[in-house]
Amino acid sequence: MYCPKCKKTIEKERVEEIDKKLRERFRIDSLSRGICPVCGCQLIDLSGKKEGLSAD
Ligand SMILES: [Zn+2]
Repeated sequence: MYCPKCKKTIEKERVEEIDKKLRERFRIDSLSRGICPVCGCQLIDLSGKKEGLSAD
């Protein structure tokens, strides 16, 4: 997951872990909705394009 505004990449393996921490500490669930918890910008899923394993 990549935030174009923060120019920061969050590895997909870590998204769940970070999301859990944010929920517990700050009650923020934006990451699970694909939104950057820092700036509120829509995150770009970089891995999805390569894999092509879209569920829908
Ligand atoms: Zn951001």
